[in-house]
Amino acid sequence: MHPTLAKRFFEKHPSNARVLFKNSVFRIEIEINTYCNRTCSYCPNSFINRRAAEVRMSDDLYSNIIRQLADIEWGGELCFHRYNEPLYDRDYIIKRLTEARTLLPHAILKIFTNGDYLDALYAAGCRAIEATAHIEPEHYTDDHAHDVLNKRIQNLGLHYVEVSSELGIQYQVQGPEDLDFIYRAYNFGGTAKGVPVRQDRGQSLTVNETVRRTAPCIRPFDEMQIETDGTMMPCCNFRSDVQSHKQYAIGKLTAESDLFAAWTSENYVAWRKGLVTNALKTGACASCAYGVPDEDDLRFEAATQAAAPMRYYAKKFISKIRGNGLGSVASVVAKKVIGH
Ligand code: SF4
Ligand code: SF4
Repeated sequence: MHPTLAKRFFEKHPSNARVLFKNSVFRIEIEINTYCNRTCSYCPNSFINRRAAEVRMSDDLYSNIIRQLADIEWGGELCFHRYNEPLYDRDYIIKRLTEARTLLPHAILKIFTNGDYLDALYAAGCRAIEATAHIEPEHYTDDHAHDVLNKRIQNLGLHYVEVSSELGIQYQVQGPEDLDFIYRAYNFGGTAKGVPVRQDRGQSLTVNETVRRTAPCIRPFDEMQIETDGTMMPCCNFRSDVQSHKQYAIGKLTAESDLFAAWTSENYVAWRKGLVTNALKTGACASCAYGVPDEDDLRFEAATQAAAPMRYYAKKFISKIRGNGLGSVASVVAKKVIGH
């Protein structure tokens, strides 16, 4: 996809950007605050101090994002974390949840949390929780993970069923029917299908030294990552407070920004173009093991199309935008990426 496509199809016709956004973005992660109470060794928070001073997203910036999502009746997953612990200040998260619940009735409000502050989220509109009991790799055993999870779930007075997880232990917690609640303890010192569970987080951590990434990556196509000050990063592995990642910032939202124009900007387009092919990836993507084909259905299907995963991805993307009523965009992309 040539950058001029952004000008041709999105800058001139902003409604195209809204349609593409609504139908492509399944998840938005907003870092509503910077604080995390932990310093897990497999997280960049092990060397960046997120406990000393806390920064929060401004009300105006948050409201601008939510209002625009409301305008298009967006129905994806809205998450409130990146490298922060969203639950440590109950009033603050409830305020953010309530605004989102009121304006985004179709969205799934989802909490990723370390579980240290877990309680009464359901009443505020939260319908999906993924809690991780963080255990340092040197202390991890399946028995220890069971003990930790059992204790935490007992403390909450809840019941669970254990579901299989090759990454560690994972429980499906039983609660209201419309609440999807996973509580898990991963072995961050282990591997899954030969790939380390721990990620190198855009080469900010020493891990995955043998990974040479060629697989396409769909993350900048279908999710949006927004930091506290509005900075947009290509995926969850990048954070602008890591010095070497500053160069990867895609742009910065303000309280006046057009969310959909930002999503279809030339910078975003350039990122997608660099990741849609089967070529060796560059920069901090070069050793990334995240999102390799087989992690979810789409990537698993792509892996089985080993002969032409790039064409497969491109076709998926093209059929998606064609289905979204952007036939003219699809035709140009098809010509450039798969030759017909
Ligand atoms: S992995 Fe999660 S809980 Fe641990 S330091 Fe990072 S953000 Fe905090
Ligand atoms: S390849 Fe990895 S680091 Fe690069 S954008 Fe995709 S998920 Fe992020």
